[in-house]
Amino acid sequence: MNADLLELDRTRIWHPYGPMPAAQAPLPVASAEGVRLTLADGRELVDGMASWWCAIHGYRHPVIDAAVQDQLGRMAHVMFGGLTHEPAIRLAERLTDWTGLDHVFFADSGSVSVEVAIKLVLQSWHGERRQLLTWRGGYHGDTFGAMAVCDPDGGMHSMWQGSLAEHVFAPLPEWTPEWESAVRALFEAHDFAGVIVEPIVQGAGGMRFHPRECVQLLRDLCDEYGVPLVLDEIATGFGRTGTLFAAAELADVLCLGKALTGGYMTLAATLCRAELAAKVDGPLMHGPTFMANPLAVSAALASTGLLQDGAWEADVARIERGLGALHDARELPGVKDVRVKGAIGVIQLDHPIDGVAATRAAVEHGVWLRPFRDLVYTMPPYVTDDDDIARICRAAIAGAAAG
Ligand SMILES: *Cc1c(COP(=O)(O)O)cnc(C)c1O
Repeated sequence: MNADLLELDRTRIWHPYGPMPAAQAPLPVASAEGVRLTLADGRELVDGMASWWCAIHGYRHPVIDAAVQDQLGRMAHVMFGGLTHEPAIRLAERLTDWTGLDHVFFADSGSVSVEVAIKLVLQSWHGERRQLLTWRGGYHGDTFGAMAVCDPDGGMHSMWQGSLAEHVFAPLPEWTPEWESAVRALFEAHDFAGVIVEPIVQGAGGMRFHPRECVQLLRDLCDEYGVPLVLDEIATGFGRTGTLFAAAELADVLCLGKALTGGYMTLAATLCRAELAAKVDGPLMHGPTFMANPLAVSAALASTGLLQDGAWEADVARIERGLGALHDARELPGVKDVRVKGAIGVIQLDHPIDGVAATRAAVEHGVWLRPFRDLVYTMPPYVTDDDDIARICRAAIAGAAAG
């Protein structure tokens, strides 16, 4: 790619969480196929990130490509107010069948699906209750409603003081008697409108894992106090942790996104139980312009269709075993922890990582990783073969050593 284009990128475009002008030049990608990105200069990188955890089937999957092309021949888009279409109905049928929930709201990104979940919960109380409970270390998106339930430090709440709703934060989830009594005490002290957490894996808030008992306790307390439980499975949904969903059966409201379209297009969904929907008088106050975009729901039908035969389960188990090679990083100075769950592998350092040096080291090993905070991690496509998983592990360890 010529230098003029890269200069335009640097001076005109904001990249995620980046300054203007950009401090670090992004790598130009020309195309992608299978698990490989081809850069403009011809280099190939194994994508250890699955494009922020979405591209679970890899790139240019023939089944998803064909589904989108087929839909393009009918209509790319049509408004969802007053109109409907078969791909949206079929997808809603599949998601409700799979999760056991009753209703679906299609949103255009994960953050928006969290906004809708919060509105649903607040509307079910008719304004009587407004405060939510979550726990520290969470990440639920970048819009204001979602930011208000992100970890206060990681989400930089101090920057937004006065603009964010003030909710209640339980300590980081860990299955100990102290943690349990801290959470019980919060339920006793507050009349919560709802509880929202990421079950089993906290993603962008720090790539931490917690036992199911923590989520089950919230479920039990929500039952006891008559409070709806929102589970954000935007990162964990569709097989990433080794089961199709991490804990969807415990949810009154469930947020899905990321891998929903196999990484083809932006789409998310907020699902809920009929009993909760019945408490909302009148309309649910949300309706995005591109709601249930036909191209996106067609990609989602194809991507979820690829999961239907269950072959992903063996792939995720195989990747989990392969990611065991990350444990070699324990020998490195500066490494605090190595953990693996499903197709998620994490090396945690005892210091903030030098992201530029760590990324460069991974790229030199032919792998795309995006280290952040004190973490080098991978969430590869499920179709990544054993050799490429081994390569990702070598690159992640090199990244941890360099960063
Ligand atoms: C990525 C993510 C979101 C936000 O989704 P966007 O599509 O980026 O808005 C919300 N919750 C969790 C758990 C996520 O991983």
